[in-house]
Amino acid sequence: MPETKRLYYTDCYLREFEAQIVAAEQAERGFRVILDQTAFYPESGGQPSDRGTLAGLRVLDVTEEGVAVIHWLDGKPEQGRVKGLLDWTRRFDHMQQHTGQHVLSAAFERTGHYRTVSFHLGAEVSSIDLDSDRLAERQLEEAEDLANRVVFEDRPVRISFRTAEEASRLELRKPTEREGDVRLVEVEGFDLSACGGTHVSHTGAIGIIAVRRFERMKGLTRVEFLCGRRALLAARRDHRLLTESARLFSGAAADLPALINKQSEELRSQTRLRVKQSEKLAEFEALELVRGATERNGRKVIRQVVTADDLVDAKALAHAIAAQPGVVALIGEAGSPAKLYFAQSAGGPCDMGSILKQTVAKTGGKGGGARDFAQGGGLESGSLEEALSFAERLLG
Ligand SMILES: [Zn+2]
Repeated sequence: MPETKRLYYTDCYLREFEAQIVAAEQAERGFRVILDQTAFYPESGGQPSDRGTLAGLRVLDVTEEGVAVIHWLDGKPEQGRVKGLLDWTRRFDHMQQHTGQHVLSAAFERTGHYRTVSFHLGAEVSSIDLDSDRLAERQLEEAEDLANRVVFEDRPVRISFRTAEEASRLELRKPTEREGDVRLVEVEGFDLSACGGTHVSHTGAIGIIAVRRFERMKGLTRVEFLCGRRALLAARRDHRLLTESARLFSGAAADLPALINKQSEELRSQTRLRVKQSEKLAEFEALELVRGATERNGRKVIRQVVTADDLVDAKALAHAIAAQPGVVALIGEAGSPAKLYFAQSAGGPCDMGSILKQTVAKTGGKGGGARDFAQGGGLESGSLEEALSFAERLLG
C-alpha cells in the first residue's frame, strides 16, 4: 500500500489542497482513490472522517489502510493532479469537539485523578468514559469549570513529533504504543498527549465545553459533552423548550419545577375527587335502576350499557347494584375496546364467572372472575347488546 502524506498532521487548518492520484479503482462502496498526500482525515481514534470533494466528486468516506488513506468517491476521477476541498463546517466542528475532549480529559485527571479510557465523537454528542463509577455532580462541575478556564485563557495548542523512545520518557496523559515517529499534541502548560487527530490552534477556538449528561456504568462513568457551536445550538434548543413550556404554564421559566409540581398535585386531588364522585353517582344510579326493575322468579336483572357520557363508572355501578339484595347486574361499558361487568348479590344462585367466560367465548374478548363478580374486555362496542342478551339467557 503506498504511503499517503497526511497534510493535517502538520496543518489542521488546511482546507484546500492539490495532490497526485497514485491509485484509483472501482469498488463496491464507490471509487477507491489513494493520493500522494491529503488533508482529508480518515476515521480513527474516535474522530469521524472528513467530507468534501475531490476532483469535483463527492467524498463519501475516508478510511485508513495501514499507511494509506483511502478516499471513497461517488464517481471516477480524471487522471493526474486533482484538487481536494474539505467540508470545513464539519471538520471544524470535529476539531472543536476533539480539542475540547483533550482539555476535558486533562481537567478530570487534574481535579480527581480520573483517567479517560475511551472517547467517542458522535454526530450529535461526544462522550468520554472515565475509569471510576464514583463521580457525582460536584466532580463533574469541578472538571467542567477547570476545562472552561483553560478555554478562556486561549492557550496555544501545539503539534510536535518525537521518536517513540523520546515520547516514552515524557509524561503523556495518553501514552502510545506506536512505533517510529509519534505525534504529540500539547495544550500549553495543561496537557500533553500522543494523538493523530485534528485540533484547533488555540483553546479559545473550542468556544465552550458543556457537560450535558452522565451515566454510571460498572466501573466507569460516561460523560457526554458538547463543544463550540454544538453547545450554542443546545443552549438555544433548551431555551426554546423552556420558554415554550413556561408559556404553556403561563409562568416564568425559572418557576417551571414549582408550577409542574403544583399542577401534578392538583391533578392528583382532582382525580381522587372524581373517583369519589363517580362512586357516589354509581350508588344513586344503582338505587334507581333496582327500584325501576321488575322482579321475575324472585330476582331483578338489571341490564345496562354505560357510555362515557353517563359519567358513571361501569364497574362501580355493577358493584353498587349487587350491593342490593336479590339482584343480578349485567353491565356493558361502551368504548374501544368495550368491557363487561357481571355481578350478583352476595351468595346468589348463579356463577357470574362462568357466565362471563361463556359470553366472551361467543362474542369475542376475554375475561373471567368469581361466582359473585366477573369482568371481561376486548370486545367490539357493536357486540355489547348481543353479549348482554346472551348472558341474560344463560341466567335461566
Ligand atoms: Zn487528539
